[in-house]
Amino acid sequence: MIEVRGLRYAYPDGAVALDGIDFHLNEGETVVLLGANGSGKTTFVLCLAGLLQASSGLIAINGIELTKSTAPELRRELGLVFQDADDQLFLPTVLEDVMFGPLNHGLSRADAERVARESLARTGVRAGYDRPPYHLSAGEKRRVAIAGVLAMNPKVLLLDEPTTYLDPPGQRDLVTILASLPQAKLLVTHDIHFASALGARAVFFDQGRIVGAGTVAEVVERFTWNLR
Ligand code: ADP
Repeated sequence: MIEVRGLRYAYPDGAVALDGIDFHLNEGETVVLLGANGSGKTTFVLCLAGLLQASSGLIAINGIELTKSTAPELRRELGLVFQDADDQLFLPTVLEDVMFGPLNHGLSRADAERVARESLARTGVRAGYDRPPYHLSAGEKRRVAIAGVLAMNPKVLLLDEPTTYLDPPGQRDLVTILASLPQAKLLVTHDIHFASALGARAVFFDQGRIVGAGTVAEVVERFTWNLR
């Protein structure tokens, strides 16, 4: 699904954020990216999403190399869920917000509404579609933001710190929702309990490199001192 080889990325100021990443994500698989602040996780996700262009190395999605010319097509395969749902939700009602992507892809209003309603049902939002998103609780906002991404029918979900702002019941809810979705998932998180509950494979980032991989428990056991 995603294949990455020798990926390097340096910010314009010269800071090397990724220093030779090899990585793969199989269909339907869930992988969490663990590591200290500044170790390169967000930069990695932004490169995969085609929002930053690698300095060197290769990213292939579904067997197609990510380049300037393939980025628009490949971006459709990846659904990026922002850390702060308020950055993602911007239309006057829940339904319009989730319809935005499908409408942008050229669906008719009727089809976009059908897709939006299906997506909202899949994330457990069953009522209140005419509410303004900014009135929702953090957990509801997260569900609506994920529904908005699902409405684009991506093959992979990229989630950056998805438990931010969620209370423990909201976090448990999110585990249930994510577990019910068939897409492959790549998550950045500091939340070890959340990562364990997802039953994911984990990789550990350190100074722009992946220095370990295994189950969440194995990676935490080996590297947790790095997080302190
Ligand atoms: P993480 O997500 O693991 O916290 P980041 O990918 O945000 O790590 O950061 C990796 C490295 O890149 C850090 O050294 C960080 O300071 C640097 N960095 C991040 N964003 C920028 C930026 N916009 N300009 C310059 N350096 C950056």
